[in-house]
Amino acid sequence: MDMNVPKKKLSLKEKYSHMTRGLDWEPSYQSKDDVYPYAKYEGIKIHDWDKWEDPFRLTMDAYWKYQAEKERKLYAIIDAYAQNNGHLSVTDARYINTVKLFLTGVSPLEYMAHRGFAHVGRQLPGAGPRVACLMQSIDEIRHAQTQVHSLSNYNKYYNGLHDFRHMHDRVWYLSVPKSFFDDAITAGPFEFMVAIGFSFEYVLTNLLFVPFVSGAAYNGDMSAMTFGFSAQSDEARHMTLGLEVIKFMLEQDPDNLPIVQRWIDKWAWRGTRVLTLVAMMMDYMLPKRIMSWKEAWEVYFEENGGALFKDLARYGITMPKCIEDITKEKEHLSHQAWATFYNYGAAAAFHTWTPDEDEMNWLSEKYPDSFDKYYRPRLEYWRDEAAKGNRFYNKTLPMLCQVCQIPMLFTEPDDPTKICYRETQYKDDKYHFCSDHCKAIFEHEPEKYIQSWLPVHQIYQGNCFPEGTDPTAEGFDPLAAVLAYYHMNFGRDNLDFEGSEDQKNFDAWRGVATSND
Ligand code: FE
Ligand code: ZN
Repeated sequence: MDMNVPKKKLSLKEKYSHMTRGLDWEPSYQSKDDVYPYAKYEGIKIHDWDKWEDPFRLTMDAYWKYQAEKERKLYAIIDAYAQNNGHLSVTDARYINTVKLFLTGVSPLEYMAHRGFAHVGRQLPGAGPRVACLMQSIDEIRHAQTQVHSLSNYNKYYNGLHDFRHMHDRVWYLSVPKSFFDDAITAGPFEFMVAIGFSFEYVLTNLLFVPFVSGAAYNGDMSAMTFGFSAQSDEARHMTLGLEVIKFMLEQDPDNLPIVQRWIDKWAWRGTRVLTLVAMMMDYMLPKRIMSWKEAWEVYFEENGGALFKDLARYGITMPKCIEDITKEKEHLSHQAWATFYNYGAAAAFHTWTPDEDEMNWLSEKYPDSFDKYYRPRLEYWRDEAAKGNRFYNKTLPMLCQVCQIPMLFTEPDDPTKICYRETQYKDDKYHFCSDHCKAIFEHEPEKYIQSWLPVHQIYQGNCFPEGTDPTAEGFDPLAAVLAYYHMNFGRDNLDFEGSEDQKNFDAWRGVATSND
């Protein structure tokens, strides 16, 4: 019997290709170089964009459908959490300081990632990666929004979260993550893809998100946990894109190898420097620990990253040189970072404290070769002094590294008792660095890094006081003026956790929530 054969439905692959490359066209009255002005200046040679293999085939209509479904679930959970006073079910109020660090330090980076991928999506001449970057750009603005929405509930009850966007552009320790992204977004499109798409999303993201998101789960923070899980399937796409870009560049031309290798070296180092904040959060700030920073580094970098670099070896890529020093640093990083924040606890928008006895024992166990020898005695000393009413606050300002912008807190790779200083002369000025690696990054692009907005330099130049401040007036208090410029409230947002308003409120509210009086 004859029948009309219905028209075959397009396969997902065909549909995808019609909706991406099928919509692309060759310009006829403008040159390609004019349409894509940033495509060549970095030296990357691409001969055939059609060789780009799309790592995932998601059309825009499917994308919106998936994302909308995730949004519905996310907001249902956030609402329930807010309505049930979920904030009172976190382990203890110290935990909320990790939320402050995340909101002020990380969420604005999501927004910058959104801008960065939108820019790169416009500038890459291939239609496949352009569509992938467009989706990632939309993912990233969603991450910024869901994080701000999830964490806004804490702002109703706790200090230090009230002006995160303002703080991100000014506060000394926030210039570390900010400058990382500023560096990436002011690079060319290919370097941006290596910096963020590959080094950050592919190599280091597990070291950022797993600790924060599992940390949230372990410590009863359902709202942070939920945005973390909601972002996870996006992250999987981002990682795939990052790896694909690296492979594509390496397959297109052998001349790309040294350029890509230099970017990998640079961004592995820049990324791990930013992760200093995460190391400290894992070992000191989570009341209930998931794993130590050292263990996280071993699992997520040494094991997983090791396998990745073995895979990339066939293209000629080698493990970044800095890894040797990072491996030595893993014993010390979190302890040195937390000690610095403890020192500068008067100028931070979150609280600091000394670990209690149990926590110190946990640290001794996790760091048998370094904690008791170098760090415990100092913490015990500070703890005992604080008990006597002499809580130590450092009132001087530290020298900052010109590249990573972290105070000079790191020690020589082979001597944990000696601060590591490097310097270099450029034109008529001297520049300072925390390490050989930051120094090498500077020396390759000095004209870029001499423009760094270093918070300490800016304070000393008088650029970080509220408008109209007269620093020559009698009794002028520079710290108070700087905190006013940061929009930090002295005595509420800063200082020790012990005795803080957050601590008192949390205890009182939890008391009401869990008893009949
Ligand atoms: Fe993101
Ligand atoms: Zn540095």
